[in-house]
Amino acid sequence: MPAILWLCRDFRFDDNAALSAACADGPVLPVFILDAATRAQGSASRWRLGRALAAFDAAWAARTGGHITVLEGEAADLLPALATRLGATSIHQNDWPAPAQQRVQAALSDALGGGPVRLHLHPGHLLIHPSRIRTGAGGSYKVYTPFARAVRQAGPDRPLAPPGQLTALPAIGDLRAGTLNLAPDMYRGAAVLAEHALPAGEAAAFGRLEDFLDCVRDYPSHRDRPDIDATSGLSEHLALGEISPRRIWATASLRGEVEPSLAAGSEKFLSEVLWREFAWHLLLAFPQMPEAPWRQEWAAFPWAGESPAATAWARAETGIALVDAGLREMRVTGRMHNRVRMVVASWLTKHLLTDWRIGLHHFADSLTDWDPAANAMNWQWVAGCGPDASPFFRIFNPEKQAASFDPDSRYRDHWLQGEGARAYVSTLPASWNSPARWTSADTAPLLAEGRNRALAALERFNRAADRL
Ligand code: FAD
Repeated sequence: MPAILWLCRDFRFDDNAALSAACADGPVLPVFILDAATRAQGSASRWRLGRALAAFDAAWAARTGGHITVLEGEAADLLPALATRLGATSIHQNDWPAPAQQRVQAALSDALGGGPVRLHLHPGHLLIHPSRIRTGAGGSYKVYTPFARAVRQAGPDRPLAPPGQLTALPAIGDLRAGTLNLAPDMYRGAAVLAEHALPAGEAAAFGRLEDFLDCVRDYPSHRDRPDIDATSGLSEHLALGEISPRRIWATASLRGEVEPSLAAGSEKFLSEVLWREFAWHLLLAFPQMPEAPWRQEWAAFPWAGESPAATAWARAETGIALVDAGLREMRVTGRMHNRVRMVVASWLTKHLLTDWRIGLHHFADSLTDWDPAANAMNWQWVAGCGPDASPFFRIFNPEKQAASFDPDSRYRDHWLQGEGARAYVSTLPASWNSPARWTSADTAPLLAEGRNRALAALERFNRAADRL
């Protein structure tokens, strides 16, 4: 019996439970639906999604001679009729448990009703099915360390091999994945993004993992250095499902076991992969996490809204070198080093006392590795309102951070004066009226005033809530 493989965030052959199940049913029609939820996504991640789709379409063509079917509209309107037309009784999808996608899945289930066609959701976006990780009281974890321990104890699910037998059905319609531009309204920098992009697709993800593991020994000591290419660079691949976390876990664990000199590095790397898992665990427990503070009392914190200072932050014009360098890196490449993300987010929420959601939306629009769970958890972590967050009074000093983690100023120079700066300027719309050259602010008073203002705001907030 033919089956529909409904693609979402699973652009791979390896460890793809939905694909394996569809193949077991019979010939497969892979379908991607350009729906309202996809169109509502941020520009850079939509652009990257288009590349993932094109790469998977090319891999599908190489393996089967066919193409992915791309449809525009809503799954609930399109898939029941498509299944009837094909004579299919099963629609398979790897579950991407983002709230927007869960609504789309629920609408499709309603439309299918009790009829002959069934929607099957398969795990694969996470290491372990969330229902297996529960506290002693049966709830979800709120603190990373016991959560990570529980996942390690339970042992991540084993990855599946790619399906051996695959018979593809011919694509339907005229839309072709390889030529789709999913972010036509994107800022001028789309061409610049393309120039600075990491290769997309499953083969690139596997190559990247192997290359990274060869050097994983240096990861613990270098991972906080934005001036050194020492992290895996796998976040885009993970966000798009071009490689599964279970495959990463199995491969990195094995390398650590057979090469003892790599064990500590691989262990540290896997503990970061567990932060991603934790973020999804939190989002599933609290789907409002991108919109509302986890700790409810923080709803009353007097964050500032949109302001000239917040606009200058988004435009990388704060005059603080590490902050502006990071924001420029993100505009040009769609990526930003994790250490710099923390510093940039801290500057917005602490020194500028600006609502973390303004920063979250800017990141969601600008990151090619945008992940609704990781983005929300980390913004709440920096702002101090998340469940296992850095306390608000911990305020990053960007100058000290720069001295520690970019000691020779290579990263800052690249983005503020060097080739990176030229690439950045080429992305700017005329309406921004940005200065041609980056200028430093008089940093000392800005640092001190911002810090004092943040601490005073915290004190007033605590006093008002009678928490002192
Ligand atoms: P590596 O250091 O090689 O880590 C391996 C993998 O572990 C990453 O690919 C990622 O999947 C996971 N990981 C590492 N650090 C974290 C973390 N702090 N939280 C969750 N998972 C982590 N990551 C995203 O993937 N998407 C986002 O939208 C996102 N938004 C962020 C927003 C803020 C304010 C901050 C501070 C961090 C955010 N991160 C986000 C987390 C982190 O910055 C990136 O995952 C990391 O920089 C990706 O680079 P890498 O793949 O080389 O990481």
